[in-house]
Amino acid sequence: MTKSHGMICLTFDDHDYVGWQTAIPLFAEFNAHALFSFSGEITAEAVSCMKALAAAGHTIGLHTVHHADAPEYIAAHGAQAYFDDEIKPQLAVCRAEGIAVRSFAFPNNKFNDEALALLTPLFTRFRAGLGGKGPDAAFLTRDELPKTRVMRGIGLGEYYHTQVEDVLAAIDRAADTDTCLTFFSHGIAPGAKHVNMPTELLTAILEHGRKRGCEFVGFDELPQLNGRT
Ligand SMILES: [Zn+2]
Repeated sequence: MTKSHGMICLTFDDHDYVGWQTAIPLFAEFNAHALFSFSGEITAEAVSCMKALAAAGHTIGLHTVHHADAPEYIAAHGAQAYFDDEIKPQLAVCRAEGIAVRSFAFPNNKFNDEALALLTPLFTRFRAGLGGKGPDAAFLTRDELPKTRVMRGIGLGEYYHTQVEDVLAAIDRAADTDTCLTFFSHGIAPGAKHVNMPTELLTAILEHGRKRGCEFVGFDELPQLNGRT
Protein backbone atom coordinates (compact mmCIF):
# COMPACT_ATOMS: atom_id res chain seq x y z
CA MET A 1 0.00 0.00 0.00
CA THR A 2 1.15 3.51 -0.75
CA LYS A 3 1.06 5.91 2.12
CA SER A 4 -1.86 8.29 1.82
CA HIS A 5 -1.34 11.97 2.40
CA GLY A 6 -3.24 13.96 -0.23
CA MET A 7 -2.42 16.90 -2.43
CA ILE A 8 -3.91 20.39 -2.23
CA CYS A 9 -4.01 22.80 -5.18
CA LEU A 10 -4.56 26.33 -3.92
CA THR A 11 -5.31 28.65 -6.84
CA PHE A 12 -5.65 32.44 -6.93
CA ASP A 13 -7.11 34.51 -9.76
CA ASP A 14 -7.04 38.12 -11.03
CA HIS A 15 -4.29 40.56 -10.04
CA ASP A 16 -3.56 41.11 -6.37
CA TYR A 17 0.13 41.73 -7.05
CA VAL A 18 0.82 43.18 -3.60
CA GLY A 19 -1.14 40.61 -1.59
CA TRP A 20 0.25 37.66 -3.55
CA GLN A 21 3.86 38.78 -3.17
CA THR A 22 3.34 39.58 0.49
CA ALA A 23 2.19 35.97 0.99
CA ILE A 24 5.34 34.44 -0.57
CA PRO A 25 7.12 34.01 2.81
CA LEU A 26 3.99 32.42 4.32
CA PHE A 27 3.81 29.83 1.55
CA ALA A 28 7.57 29.26 1.89
CA GLU A 29 7.25 28.61 5.62
CA PHE A 30 5.06 25.61 4.75
CA ASN A 31 7.02 24.58 1.65
CA ALA A 32 3.75 25.20 -0.21
CA HIS A 33 3.21 26.14 -3.84
CA ALA A 34 0.08 27.47 -5.53
CA LEU A 35 -1.27 28.58 -8.91
CA PHE A 36 -1.60 32.32 -9.58
CA SER A 37 -3.64 33.20 -12.69
CA PHE A 38 -3.33 36.77 -13.96
CA SER A 39 -6.10 38.82 -15.53
CA GLY A 40 -5.67 42.22 -17.19
CA GLU A 41 -2.86 43.71 -19.20
CA ILE A 42 0.47 42.13 -18.32
CA THR A 43 2.17 45.34 -17.23
CA ALA A 44 5.69 45.71 -15.89
CA GLU A 45 4.21 45.35 -12.39
CA ALA A 46 2.47 42.11 -13.39
CA VAL A 47 5.69 40.77 -14.93
CA SER A 48 7.60 41.60 -11.77
CA CYS A 49 4.96 39.78 -9.68
CA MET A 50 4.98 36.76 -12.00
CA LYS A 51 8.77 36.52 -11.77
CA ALA A 52 8.77 36.79 -7.99
CA LEU A 53 6.12 34.07 -7.65
CA ALA A 54 7.79 31.79 -10.20
CA ALA A 55 11.15 32.21 -8.47
CA ALA A 56 9.48 31.03 -5.25
CA GLY A 57 8.29 27.85 -7.01
CA HIS A 58 4.70 28.84 -7.75
CA THR A 59 2.88 28.15 -11.01
CA ILE A 60 1.91 31.08 -13.22
CA GLY A 61 -1.36 30.95 -15.13
CA LEU A 62 -3.32 33.28 -17.37
CA HIS A 63 -6.88 34.50 -16.81
CA THR A 64 -7.51 36.76 -19.87
CA VAL A 65 -7.13 40.46 -20.61
CA HIS A 66 -10.73 41.57 -19.98
CA HIS A 67 -12.03 38.71 -17.84
CA ALA A 68 -14.57 37.89 -20.56
CA ASP A 69 -16.60 34.68 -20.23
CA ALA A 70 -15.19 32.31 -22.85
CA PRO A 71 -18.45 30.68 -24.07
CA GLU A 72 -20.28 34.01 -24.45
CA TYR A 73 -17.37 35.82 -26.09
CA ILE A 74 -16.73 32.99 -28.55
CA ALA A 75 -20.44 32.76 -29.41
CA ALA A 76 -20.61 36.51 -30.03
CA HIS A 77 -17.26 37.18 -31.73
CA GLY A 78 -15.75 33.83 -32.70
CA ALA A 79 -12.86 31.76 -31.39
CA GLN A 80 -10.20 33.75 -33.23
CA ALA A 81 -11.36 37.02 -31.68
CA TYR A 82 -11.39 35.44 -28.23
CA PHE A 83 -7.81 34.32 -28.73
CA ASP A 84 -6.68 37.63 -30.24
CA ASP A 85 -8.41 39.86 -27.68
CA GLU A 86 -8.18 37.85 -24.47
CA ILE A 87 -5.24 35.46 -24.66
CA LYS A 88 -2.67 36.50 -27.24
CA PRO A 89 -1.61 39.83 -25.64
CA GLN A 90 -0.96 38.11 -22.30
CA LEU A 91 0.91 35.21 -23.89
CA ALA A 92 3.05 37.55 -25.99
CA VAL A 93 4.39 39.38 -22.93
CA CYS A 94 5.01 36.14 -21.02
CA ARG A 95 6.91 34.66 -23.95
CA ALA A 96 8.97 37.83 -24.40
CA GLU A 97 9.80 37.80 -20.68
CA GLY A 98 10.64 34.08 -20.63
CA ILE A 99 7.84 33.25 -18.20
CA ALA A 100 6.53 29.71 -18.75
CA VAL A 101 2.74 29.61 -18.72
CA ARG A 102 0.98 26.24 -18.99
CA SER A 103 -2.15 26.89 -16.94
CA PHE A 104 -5.33 28.86 -17.53
CA ALA A 105 -8.15 29.79 -15.18
CA PHE A 106 -11.49 30.33 -16.90
CA PRO A 107 -12.96 33.77 -16.06
CA ASN A 108 -16.01 33.31 -13.86
CA ASN A 109 -15.27 29.57 -14.14
CA LYS A 110 -17.24 29.47 -17.40
CA PHE A 111 -16.18 27.14 -20.20
CA ASN A 112 -17.58 24.81 -22.82
CA ASP A 113 -16.20 22.29 -25.29
CA GLU A 114 -15.45 24.97 -27.87
CA ALA A 115 -13.43 27.05 -25.42
CA LEU A 116 -11.52 23.97 -24.26
CA ALA A 117 -10.79 22.94 -27.85
CA LEU A 118 -9.46 26.42 -28.62
CA LEU A 119 -7.21 26.60 -25.57
CA THR A 120 -6.03 23.00 -25.20
CA PRO A 121 -3.14 23.45 -27.67
CA LEU A 122 -1.93 26.43 -25.62
CA PHE A 123 -2.29 25.27 -22.02
CA THR A 124 -1.79 22.02 -20.16
CA ARG A 125 -4.33 22.43 -17.38
CA PHE A 126 -7.37 24.53 -16.69
CA ARG A 127 -8.99 25.69 -13.48
CA ALA A 128 -12.76 25.87 -13.33
CA GLY A 129 -15.41 25.81 -10.62
CA LEU A 130 -17.66 23.00 -9.48
CA GLY A 131 -20.16 23.82 -12.24
CA GLY A 132 -23.09 22.70 -10.10
CA LYS A 133 -21.54 19.28 -9.58
CA GLY A 134 -21.11 19.54 -5.82
CA PRO A 135 -17.87 19.42 -3.82
CA ASP A 136 -17.03 15.82 -4.81
CA ALA A 137 -15.92 17.22 -8.19
CA ALA A 138 -13.02 19.02 -6.48
CA PHE A 139 -11.40 15.71 -5.41
CA LEU A 140 -9.39 13.63 -7.89
CA THR A 141 -7.73 10.30 -7.29
CA ARG A 142 -4.13 9.72 -8.34
CA ASP A 143 -5.49 7.58 -11.18
CA GLU A 144 -7.73 10.37 -12.39
CA LEU A 145 -5.09 13.12 -12.22
CA PRO A 146 -3.10 12.16 -15.35
CA LYS A 147 -6.38 12.01 -17.29
CA THR A 148 -7.85 15.27 -16.05
CA ARG A 149 -7.24 18.53 -17.88
CA VAL A 150 -9.89 20.65 -16.11
CA MET A 151 -9.38 20.95 -12.37
CA ARG A 152 -12.63 21.91 -10.65
CA GLY A 153 -12.19 23.90 -7.47
CA ILE A 154 -14.15 24.95 -4.38
CA GLY A 155 -14.33 28.74 -3.88
CA LEU A 156 -12.82 30.11 -0.68
CA GLY A 157 -13.85 33.40 0.89
CA GLU A 158 -16.75 35.24 2.45
CA TYR A 159 -18.68 35.36 -0.86
CA TYR A 160 -18.59 31.55 -1.06
CA HIS A 161 -19.88 31.21 2.52
CA THR A 162 -16.68 29.44 3.49
CA GLN A 163 -16.63 27.94 6.97
CA VAL A 164 -13.16 27.15 8.31
CA GLU A 165 -14.30 23.80 9.76
CA ASP A 166 -15.64 22.72 6.36
CA VAL A 167 -12.35 23.59 4.67
CA LEU A 168 -10.34 21.67 7.27
CA ALA A 169 -12.72 18.70 6.90
CA ALA A 170 -12.16 18.76 3.13
CA ILE A 171 -8.39 18.68 3.74
CA ASP A 172 -8.92 15.72 6.08
CA ARG A 173 -10.83 13.95 3.31
CA ALA A 174 -8.01 14.58 0.80
CA ALA A 175 -5.47 13.28 3.33
CA ASP A 176 -7.52 10.23 4.31
CA THR A 177 -8.27 9.22 0.73
CA ASP A 178 -4.96 10.40 -0.81
CA THR A 179 -6.81 12.54 -3.31
CA CYS A 180 -5.99 15.88 -4.93
CA LEU A 181 -8.23 18.72 -3.77
CA THR A 182 -8.49 22.03 -5.63
CA PHE A 183 -9.56 25.37 -4.17
CA PHE A 184 -9.81 28.82 -5.75
CA SER A 185 -9.79 32.34 -4.36
CA HIS A 186 -8.47 35.76 -5.41
CA GLY A 187 -6.61 38.34 -3.36
CA ILE A 188 -4.81 37.52 -0.12
CA ALA A 189 -4.89 39.92 2.85
CA PRO A 190 -5.51 39.88 6.59
CA GLY A 191 -9.28 39.94 7.15
CA ALA A 192 -9.98 39.89 3.38
CA LYS A 193 -13.67 39.92 2.45
CA HIS A 194 -15.84 39.11 -0.57
CA VAL A 195 -14.16 36.66 -3.01
CA ASN A 196 -10.75 37.02 -1.37
CA MET A 197 -8.68 34.82 0.93
CA PRO A 198 -8.14 36.07 4.48
CA THR A 199 -4.52 35.45 5.47
CA GLU A 200 -5.90 33.86 8.64
CA LEU A 201 -7.77 31.23 6.59
CA LEU A 202 -4.76 30.61 4.36
CA THR A 203 -2.61 30.09 7.45
CA ALA A 204 -5.16 27.66 8.95
CA ILE A 205 -5.23 25.70 5.67
CA LEU A 206 -1.44 25.52 5.47
CA GLU A 207 -1.12 24.49 9.12
CA HIS A 208 -3.79 21.82 8.86
CA GLY A 209 -2.45 20.48 5.57
CA ARG A 210 1.04 20.20 7.02
CA LYS A 211 -0.30 18.44 10.09
CA ARG A 212 -2.08 15.93 7.82
CA GLY A 213 0.98 15.45 5.58
CA CYS A 214 -0.61 17.00 2.48
CA GLU A 215 1.50 18.43 -0.32
CA PHE A 216 0.57 21.93 -1.55
CA VAL A 217 1.31 21.97 -5.25
CA GLY A 218 1.01 24.37 -8.17
CA PHE A 219 -0.42 23.02 -11.41
CA ASP A 220 3.07 22.73 -12.93
CA GLU A 221 3.83 20.08 -10.28
CA LEU A 222 0.84 17.86 -11.05
CA PRO A 223 1.43 14.55 -12.84
CA GLN A 224 1.74 14.90 -16.59
CA LEU A 225 -1.31 14.26 -18.70
CA ASN A 226 -1.65 10.95 -20.53
CA GLY A 227 -2.51 12.20 -24.02
CA ARG A 228 -5.85 13.75 -24.87
CA THR A 229 -9.01 13.21 -22.89
ZN1 LIG B 1 -11.28 36.12 -12.14
